[in-house]
Amino acid sequence: MTAANETPFSDRLADVKARIAAACARSGRSVEAVTLVAVSKTWPLADLQSAVAAGVTDLGENYVQEAVDKVNQWQGPAPVWHFIGPLQSNKTRPIAELFDWVHSVDRLKIARRLSEQRPSDKGPLSVCIQVNISNDPAKAGVAPAEVEGLLADMAGLDNLTVAGLMAIPALDLDDTTLRQQYSELKTLRDTLITTYPDCKALSMGMSGDFELAIECGATHVRVGSALFGQRTSQPKD
Ligand SMILES: *Cc1c(COP(=O)(O)O)cnc(C)c1O
Repeated sequence: MTAANETPFSDRLADVKARIAAACARSGRSVEAVTLVAVSKTWPLADLQSAVAAGVTDLGENYVQEAVDKVNQWQGPAPVWHFIGPLQSNKTRPIAELFDWVHSVDRLKIARRLSEQRPSDKGPLSVCIQVNISNDPAKAGVAPAEVEGLLADMAGLDNLTVAGLMAIPALDLDDTTLRQQYSELKTLRDTLITTYPDCKALSMGMSGDFELAIECGATHVRVGSALFGQRTSQPKD
């Protein structure tokens, strides 16, 4: 979309969709079972508008101020908006008001605020609990053993639905370890869903590993650079 990314967006999108379809076919899953969330952080609004014109249905953003500006400036039929970045408790309000999904909830305080701040005419906000599947001290997310307790507390909140689990694995894991960690998240989801039937989603997989994640059961893949190109800037909130 910029000079640095010479392949047209529509070709990149077709390629990513074909790879998703192939991974679904390999693992005996329906392609409808996987939602492509196009991660548009750092890219200008015009690129997002073009992406949606090319057939992207879901957009993911990481930084509160950037995300809010983009939603507020949106023209035309809106995509499904996913907030996937770290969220501080003093910044939850616009996310609760404007977004459809939040993938990165890892404590009750944030969940409570999102629920309290969700406008009643919008229907419940879909949230995922972020799980630290790699047990990586540098990563956000709750330990796998603590997910059920947090989910039980969150289940009482009126204006949000705990719709699934999300993970960002440690960097540079080999495929065997990655597969093992994603499969453990799926097993956890399969256990929780018997008590919490809304807890269906598995948000896992990015540009480097979305096919592997789909083979392990991902329902939402968060793909940025494979669609938009390499990011060059890191905006701050
Ligand atoms: C940036 C980001 C992505 C997309 O990463 P790519 O490697 O560019 O596909 C996915 N998930 C989260 C949480 C991110 O912050």
